[in-house]
Amino acid sequence: MTVITSASAHLVDIPVETVRTDAIQSFQSQETVFVDIATSDGHAGRGYSYTIGTGGSAVLALVRDVFLPQLVGMDVRRTEHIWNTLFASTRATAPGAITSLALAAVDTAVWDVNGRREDTPLWVAAGGYRNELDCYDTENGWLHLSIDELVEGVSAVEASGMRAAKVKVGKPTVHGDVERLRAVRAAVGDDFEIFVDAIQSFTVAEAIRRAAAYADLGIGWLEEPLPADNVAGHAQLARHSAVPIAVGETLYSVGQFQTYVDAEAASIIQVDVARVGGITPWLKVAHLSEAANIPVAPHFLMELHVSLACAVPNGMWVEHIPQLRGVMHNEIAPHAGMVTAPDSAGLGIVWNDAQLAAWSVDTADRI
Ligand SMILES: [Mg+2]
Repeated sequence: MTVITSASAHLVDIPVETVRTDAIQSFQSQETVFVDIATSDGHAGRGYSYTIGTGGSAVLALVRDVFLPQLVGMDVRRTEHIWNTLFASTRATAPGAITSLALAAVDTAVWDVNGRREDTPLWVAAGGYRNELDCYDTENGWLHLSIDELVEGVSAVEASGMRAAKVKVGKPTVHGDVERLRAVRAAVGDDFEIFVDAIQSFTVAEAIRRAAAYADLGIGWLEEPLPADNVAGHAQLARHSAVPIAVGETLYSVGQFQTYVDAEAASIIQVDVARVGGITPWLKVAHLSEAANIPVAPHFLMELHVSLACAVPNGMWVEHIPQLRGVMHNEIAPHAGMVTAPDSAGLGIVWNDAQLAAWSVDTADRI
């Protein structure tokens, strides 16, 4: 038996490099909750979770108050036992966003230390299907950009070798969206995927109307068209839309994904390893999607998702947002439109501890 001998957690506010605006919000800073654990055989691991600006101190409090005291003495090899024991101890607040984010911070630390103990990189430990995958750009498609800025940015993405980019939609009129997308399509040609993201901003009727307009431009997927808990609405839309429907970044449990799959309400699954509760449940979502012949294109967190999407046979795209490059020494840099999973043991992230310390938050300031 190899037990966890210590566990700690702290919060870091990582500034955003790019102004990121969509139909409903602006990404202010990445509140990142880190969990560090050590084991009786002399290894250490670090996991993390995040929010885009609210609730980070609540996640940290749940980790510190409820999870950390249970971890010391647990057998670190038993990932399912750890995850389910912690989950069972949060029945009053589960399933839910804060609890899943807190579970993810611990679960990714457990996977990190086990990978290091076994000298195995995450992409191999999680299945090892391949070690590189296509990535798509998100940083040049924000809703506040002018058409000229949009065209210039996505054209630069194409010139870099990437074969896809995502553009936010949700302008007040259909024409407002279509005008932007038409300009991008004219600039990049037909042999380039354009995805669109509505950030849950439409009604079913409006989404059906807009999807028809987007379809004429060969759009690859329509992401989060409706409020995330409107499964029946997504199913209705999916039956009417020639554009595949993508969902998942706002789902917080394996069961919520199963509900979408059962309802035939999603064509692309965008499971987020932090929001679903860690690597342990992320893999279950990937596998249940595979069983239904649905690809997985994970949301954000490319530093973890490059390894996870590569690990499974139905991994389709990695979303390129280099949000962590300011706090790590081994940036995931695209090459000819592809990203490669790190080959070092564990999560494969070499943290810049000095920068993390500089951006560390004393949560006492927030109460
Ligand atoms: Mg999105």
